[in-house]
Formats: sequence, structure tokens, C-alpha cells
Amino acid sequence: MSPELRILAEAAAAPVADQDASRLAGLDTHALCEAARERRDQAWGRTLTFSPKVFLPITNLCRNRCDYCSFRRSPGDPGEWTMSPAEIRAWLSRAREQGCVEALFCLGDTPETGFRQYRALLHSWGHESTVAYLRWAGERALAEGLLPHTNAGILSREDMITLRPVNVSLGLMLETVSERLCEKGMPHHKAPDKRPVKRIQMTREAGELRIPFTSGLLIGIGETLEERVATLLTIRSIHRQYGHIQEVIVQNFRAHPSTPMGAVAEPTEDDLAVAVALARLILDDDVSVQAPPNLSPASTKALIDAGINDFGGISPVSPDYINPLHPWPHLEKLSEVCDAAGFDLQPRLPIYPLHLDTNDFVDPSLRPRVDELHTGLGAR
Ligand code: SF4
Repeated sequence: MSPELRILAEAAAAPVADQDASRLAGLDTHALCEAARERRDQAWGRTLTFSPKVFLPITNLCRNRCDYCSFRRSPGDPGEWTMSPAEIRAWLSRAREQGCVEALFCLGDTPETGFRQYRALLHSWGHESTVAYLRWAGERALAEGLLPHTNAGILSREDMITLRPVNVSLGLMLETVSERLCEKGMPHHKAPDKRPVKRIQMTREAGELRIPFTSGLLIGIGETLEERVATLLTIRSIHRQYGHIQEVIVQNFRAHPSTPMGAVAEPTEDDLAVAVALARLILDDDVSVQAPPNLSPASTKALIDAGINDFGGISPVSPDYINPLHPWPHLEKLSEVCDAAGFDLQPRLPIYPLHLDTNDFVDPSLRPRVDELHTGLGAR
């Protein structure tokens, strides 16, 4: 047996050692996926999950300019949108009626540091900052019976302390540890908040604050396979220190015609399968591996075969505002594909069992609502 096949056989049973991880990257896709499936089945069984959510794009103003992004706007751009308090209330109420459990608050990075008009708008609604507005929105979501999860880009330690009592989890895609992608001519050059060091720091601070956390890997924006492996190892190392990473999203770049990367080739199904399998084989068993089904609608079976155990948030109420060309799948159809592959599709909370049962990961103010919704999901 070659050293690579020995490493793969070991990785099918337990996370691969740091020094061996990059040797997996060159192996055949079929063999990688087979080992990843074995690890997934052993750790997560034959259930695949999703989070029934409403997606609230609090604002699409963002001070960064990632070359692949079709979401961001500057003040005055067509499509600029900051959700008003009335819009947030109305959406939350509709979401609960339609059976959502998660309220996902998503927005561009640090908009108030870039745009005076936005700061004035927040003040006119009685909020001093984006974080104050998010705290209010989280309170409203909880009052409607939903569990908030916020991905607001880079947050300071103080911001996270403010948001913790109204969020069951927070998120920030690490995306990549490649500093190279921040150089001139690369996709993160005009995105100061995409410097890996900042994102690693926030991920660590969330761990220190005992906040269940969603991270992720973005593939196809110019990174190498070795850089993908390095990103996964970084996430694993932080999780081993703090135990707070609940899930890792493996997201594939999709080219949007309106962006500077509109003509760049997208990752193939094989690229995505390899990235998912590497995530499953490198990450620890208690970390969920997720891939969004709407970004690869023809590849659901391939994602399952590569070792995912989760599809992330799927909304019956709101579109995917970050990827507007790619609608969520219908749940019945997704369920049929899962059935045919021998899996049961089940809803879940935006906080995973690992943290749900650990008191210091759930703010005491959230406990009654979390327990109520957990019981409710079990009864569905
Ligand atoms: S990807 Fe995020 S940080 Fe980058 S421009 Fe878009 S909204 Fe801003």
C-alpha cells in the first residue's frame, strides 16, 4: 500500500494528521469520496439536515469590493437596500407563519465605517450602530419565536458580547487563508475585511466568548488546492482550542455577469466533491460539513456522495440574496434525492446538538426559546 493510500485508510476512521493532510489532495476523487462517506456515516449516520430559515439582508451596503460579489452596493447604486424596522417585523412574522425556525441576519462588512448616509438612516430609526440595530432585530426575532443567527462580517469582541444574548450562533466564512488573494489584481485586493488575519482573530474571539460558530471555505476564487487544505487545517486548529465551530460550509464560487469575475471559470463538480471530501476527512467528527444545494442544483447526489451531512439554510420565504440567480431547491425534491441515496432529510436548529446540550454555549436568556423549538422540531 502506498503512503497516500495508508493515510486515506486512516482518514476514513479519524481526522488526518496535520503533516499528512496535503498528501490527500492529490488522490483520486472516487477514493477520497469513499473515505469521506465512511467518516460521515460513522459520525452523523444516515440523516441529512437543513435549517428552515428566513434570510434577512439587513443592508447590502459594504465597504469592501470582492471581485466575485454581486450583493454589495454603495449609497445611490441601483438596488441599494437597507431593511427598515417595519420590513424586518413583517418578514419575521411571515417567516414564523410559514414554519421557519432560523432568522438569518446577513449584511455587508462594516457599512457604517464607509457610508455617512447609512449612519444617518440608522440614527433616524433610533439606532447608534449596525450592531445596535442587529440587537433590536434579534430581540424581535426571538419575540416571534425564531432563533437568530447573524453573519455581519467582521465583528469586534464587544460587538459579539452585545449580540450573544440574542443569537444562538454567529457566522463568518474564513473563505481562505491565502494572503496571496489580497494582492493587487486578486479578488480580495479591495476588501480590507477579507485579510485572513482579521477573520482568524474574530473566529478565535468567538471561541473565547463560547459562541457556537459557523465558518466556511470558498473555492474557485484563485486559491490552490494546498491553500484549501491550509484553510481547513486552520479552522480545525481553532476548533480544537475552543470547541465552538459547529459547521463548515464548503461554498463554490459562481460567476455573476455583473462582477469583475463574471467570465472566470467556475469550479467543476469534481473540484467541489474533492473540497467536500477533504473537509470531511480533515475536520473533526463533531463539526458538520455543509454545502449549499442551490449553488450546485445538478450535483446534490455528488455532494451527498462526497460526505456532506447538511444542506444549510433553506427558505420557504425569502430568496438567496447573496446568490440571486440561484433559487433554493424545493424541499420535496431535495427529500426525494436524499431518499434515493438512502438518507432521511430532517430540519434542524441553527445551533447543533454539540452546543445545545452544553450550557455555557447557550446564553441563559435564550434557553427557554431554544428548548421549546428543539422540542417542536422533534415533534414534526
Ligand atoms: S462578499 Fe461580502 S465583504 Fe465582499 S463585497 Fe460582498 S458583501 Fe462585501
